[in-house]
Amino acid sequence: AHVLVCAGAGCISSGCQAVKSALEESIDRLGLKREVKVVETGCMGPCDLGPVIVVYPEGVFYRQLKPADAVEIAEEHLLKGRVVERLLYKAPEDGKTAVTSDQIDFFKKQTRIALRNTGIINPESVEEYIARDGYRALGKVLTSMTPEEVIECIKKSGLRGRGGAGFPTGLKWEFSAKAPGKPKYVVCNADEGDPGAFMDRSILEGDPHSVLEAMAICGYAIGANQGYVYVRAEYPLAVQRLSLAIEKAREYGLLGESIFGTGFSFDVEIRVGAGAFVCGEETALLASIEGRRGEPRPRPPFPAQEGLWGKPTVINNVETWANIPPIILNGPEWFASIGTEKSKGTKVFALAGKVNNTGLVEVPMGTTLREIIFDIGGGIPGGKRFKAAQTGGPSGGCIPARYLDVPVDYESLTQLGAIMGSGGLIIMDEDTCMVDLARFFLEFVQDESCGKCSPCRIGTKRMLEIVERITRGEGRDGDIELLEELGHGIKSSALCGLGQTAPNPVLSTIRHFRDEYEAHIYHKK
Ligand code: SF4
Repeated sequence: AHVLVCAGAGCISSGCQAVKSALEESIDRLGLKREVKVVETGCMGPCDLGPVIVVYPEGVFYRQLKPADAVEIAEEHLLKGRVVERLLYKAPEDGKTAVTSDQIDFFKKQTRIALRNTGIINPESVEEYIARDGYRALGKVLTSMTPEEVIECIKKSGLRGRGGAGFPTGLKWEFSAKAPGKPKYVVCNADEGDPGAFMDRSILEGDPHSVLEAMAICGYAIGANQGYVYVRAEYPLAVQRLSLAIEKAREYGLLGESIFGTGFSFDVEIRVGAGAFVCGEETALLASIEGRRGEPRPRPPFPAQEGLWGKPTVINNVETWANIPPIILNGPEWFASIGTEKSKGTKVFALAGKVNNTGLVEVPMGTTLREIIFDIGGGIPGGKRFKAAQTGGPSGGCIPARYLDVPVDYESLTQLGAIMGSGGLIIMDEDTCMVDLARFFLEFVQDESCGKCSPCRIGTKRMLEIVERITRGEGRDGDIELLEELGHGIKSSALCGLGQTAPNPVLSTIRHFRDEYEAHIYHKK
């Protein structure tokens, strides 16, 4: 038997290491060491059920375990083959018991491409990655495809950047490939900073080789031999697993000189960010890699043409990279058959807030919010009413209940005044004050503004002052209009994406919940 122990950040904080130790000790004591292998994986997704383990070959899913439960599982299930009923998952809606994870709606309704290995393999084992087709896509491009064919394949797949802006990935690669200037570079943006977002973290912690393989594929396609992963220092486990993955990949000849003996060389280094939110903006990130202050600069020129040290640079985020190997292996038509007309493939969301099943989910683009929140998320706790969802974190906007059936894709969300963003999805119930929510995000971006341009530096501060006085019950007639005017002004004049999107939470809550602002101002709530 194989026992997978989820060691994602959520399960680590709920005590999975103690559960794993108890399990291993019991396996040892019962003399089962030769028959049972315990494997530590990355995040399986259902964070609120942690610590979780899955026992194979049956795939029995146990949740919310304590060390004593692990002892019982070893004695009953592993030794005697009897499933421990009381530790199985019970659906909150109807109390139905699920034995295996594929009987649980949370898993059943997902399509996992970027997360295909996360929560399944041991992220510290390159052998397990290889056993799941790892590095086969790199082998395929190096031995049977020209760089142009690789770019064409990514273009045809319809993959768009998962970091927020949704720019077509293949087109970006093509710009870099065609841009004059050498050497060229490949960069992975792992500076995920939105409050409530942990998609990239989970992929790096759970499947680091998928990112390395994808970066090498891009290197071949654009003619680059060096890659950098810019990862935030707040993700020590991701840094550690990624470092180990780079080391192992070099050892196996999957990174470094003449990969697979083809003459193509590619290597990756890690750069650890110091925790500035603005460094997730690509030009600030590049400046930071170069050792300069992490401040954005005007675009154009875009990094694809003039990036790192002024050379053509492809920069994609972690989730985008994780999609590349399966696209190469399964073909662009396969990927393009998933999702909607303009938004292909899947999207990973970090589901958080007032929802029964919080955690990491991956669904085809075009899935409705209702399916994500109610079918996968299990609805709102305590029988409360769903009020709104905030997508895209501090740069995004809120979507009220009447749009629950809108398909989640780039275009639909933009139309509603929200954005896809990188994938943070925070659910609010009827008790949430939308003005407070807007204040929280505004406070965050105001604090993280790098201060380089005045619309963002001063404008967000003025907006925050107004929102704060409204929430204190000191709002004035005309404040809402002033917020709108300031918000639109900042959006159209700020230098980078941080400032251009900073007013979104305020503007979208005014748009959909103006009555709550009015209630604060005129009825002094
Ligand atoms: Fe800095 Fe804000 Fe201007 Fe961006 S918009 S450059 S974060 S001050």
